[in-house]
Amino acid sequence: TDELLIKSEKLSVAGQLAAGVAHEIRNPLTTLRGFVQLLQSSDKGNQKYYDIMLSELDRINLIVSEFLILSKPHLRHFDRKDVANILESTVALLDPQANMQNIRIEMNNDSNSSFVNCEENHLKQVFINLIKNGMEAMPNGGNLKITVRNVDAQQLHIEIVDEGVGVSSEQLKRLGEPFFTTKSTGTGLGLMICYKIITDHNGKIAITSEIGEGTTVNIFLPLYQEVKQEAEEKLHYVE
Ligand code: ADP
Ligand code: MG
Repeated sequence: TDELLIKSEKLSVAGQLAAGVAHEIRNPLTTLRGFVQLLQSSDKGNQKYYDIMLSELDRINLIVSEFLILSKPHLRHFDRKDVANILESTVALLDPQANMQNIRIEMNNDSNSSFVNCEENHLKQVFINLIKNGMEAMPNGGNLKITVRNVDAQQLHIEIVDEGVGVSSEQLKRLGEPFFTTKSTGTGLGLMICYKIITDHNGKIAITSEIGEGTTVNIFLPLYQEVKQEAEEKLHYVE
C-alpha cells in the first residue's frame, strides 16, 4: 500500500502541474488574440492570414480548456443530484443550436428515481460532450433521443441515440483515446473526458455504432443509496 500511495501522490503533483501550465497558457493567448485582431483591422491586404492565426489561436484555447477540465486537482464535492434534471437543463442549453441544425432532441425519463451521488458540473460536461458529438454526427439534421431508466435498484441507465454517420468497428475501438478525432476541427479529448468523469463516479460507458445508421452511447451510474452513502458523502479525492 505504501507504493500505491506514493504513486497516487506523484500523479497528483503531475496533475496539478499540468493544470497550472494549462492555466498559464491562457493569459498570453488572450493577449495574442487581441493584438492579432488589432493588426487585422488595420492591414487589409493580409486578411486570410489573420483569419488563420485567429482560428489556430482558438484551437489552442479549446485544447487547453478541455485539458483543464481533465486535470483539475484537489478536493471535489459530491452531492445527491437528480440526473434527469441535469439532463433536462443540458438539453435546454443545447436546444437552440440543435434547432438551427434541424436536430430534434427528445428526452424521456422512464425511471422511478434518477438520483446519484455526483459532481453536477462534471456530469453536465459529459452530457454536453456526448450530445454535441451526436449533433456533429448529423450534419443534415435528425433525431437525438435520450432515455433515462432504472436497470435495477442499484443502477441508472442513460441512453443517447443519434441517427448520424456512425463509426467503423476499427474506429469504435479507438474512441476515448486522447487526440483521436475524425473531425477537421476536433480535439479528440471530449470522449476521454467523459470516460474519466464517469469512471470517477464508479460508472461505465459502452458505445455501439453502425456506419450510416447512427451511434448509441450507454452510461451506467450507481444510484444514490440512502443509508450507505450518507456516511461516505462529500470527501472524494482526484488523482
Ligand atoms: P471530437 O469530437 O473533438 O472529435 P471526441 O472525443 O468527442 O472528439 O470524439 C472522438 C471521435 O469519436 C470523433 O471525432 C468521431 O469520429 C467519433 N464519435 C464520437 N461520438 C460520435 C457519434 N455520436 N457519432 C459518430 N462518431 C462519433
Ligand atoms: Mg466531441
